[in-house]
Amino acid sequence: EGAVNRIAAGEVVERPASAVKELVENALDAQATRIRIDIADGGRTLIRVTDDGHGIDAGDLPLALCRHATSKIDGSDLLNIHSFGFRGEALPSLGAVGRLTISSRAAGSDGAATIHVSGGRIDAVKPAALRGGTVVELCDLFHATPARLKFLKTERSETMAVTDAIKRLAMAEPGVAFTLCDTSQGGDRVLFRADTAASLSDRLTNVLGRDFGANCLPIDAERDGVRLTGQAGLPTFSRGNAVHQYLFVNGRPVRDRMLTGALRGAYMDVLSKNRHAVAALFVTCDPTLVDCNVHPAKTEVRFRDPGLVRGLIVSGLRHALAQAGH
Ligand code: ADP
Ligand code: MG
Repeated sequence: EGAVNRIAAGEVVERPASAVKELVENALDAQATRIRIDIADGGRTLIRVTDDGHGIDAGDLPLALCRHATSKIDGSDLLNIHSFGFRGEALPSLGAVGRLTISSRAAGSDGAATIHVSGGRIDAVKPAALRGGTVVELCDLFHATPARLKFLKTERSETMAVTDAIKRLAMAEPGVAFTLCDTSQGGDRVLFRADTAASLSDRLTNVLGRDFGANCLPIDAERDGVRLTGQAGLPTFSRGNAVHQYLFVNGRPVRDRMLTGALRGAYMDVLSKNRHAVAALFVTCDPTLVDCNVHPAKTEVRFRDPGLVRGLIVSGLRHALAQAGH
């Protein structure tokens, strides 16, 4: 079991940012409305995610640490778009590669409880003091796997990757408030903050800056039950790299070649080869038309009809660009 967890961990947790993503997705799955993330040393020594979600029953805490015990793979729920989690392997994996403490108070319960796991060894559940929600603390990531530690980049680039992961999740969840703090120097340095936003465009402006909103076209197109929304940058607002391309499928941040290729195709006639459009695009469709769980890190997707989605993106963006005179 321990070895299995460590192998699974290698797929799920590549770096601090992937651990942060899993923990924040869990908070979102628990219907949190406020999520606070604290990191130290780029997430290597500390990642703490505090949420106000529905919490975990004390009796379920050990189960949350057992591989697949909570897996939602029972057929019906496999493609549930409202839940990020589905494999039940994030927490067991994190417990195998770091010192993990989960404290939680389930909604309606009369007390909080905490459980600790380190090197795959799970301690007994103990009472804790917590008014509600869940706090998951992951310390010393990869302390037991020095080979993986070596692959971590500088503190600065790990911190940037964490910030990027949080920003992507924040773009997909305008109704949730996010705060990301760096506690390395003792105090709390706010790296990113987004208060509850009234609309997607407000949240995009908050995350990506005023320039973004001012230089983007609103996108709203549909074809055969697949909808494309969001904002796409004017050709004059292009960049030398593709870092400002944010793509989402059914509310999940994804990195997908087909989608990126479609975006490039849409701008083919208006941008030179070395320029990249800025965009935040949301593809929404019936969950049975897309598999978001191709890879454990869950950033690749597989559409049943990729041609349809590609066509929708190319025509939807070209139409918006043409309307704006490009
Ligand atoms: P998955 O998300 O795929 O179910 P995880 O290992 O990420 O698997 O989490 C295991 C389980 O622990 C979840 O299914 C959920 O029941 C519970 N859990 C984890 N984090 C939270 C949280 N922040 N709030 C409430 N429940 C949580
Ligand atoms: Mg999960």
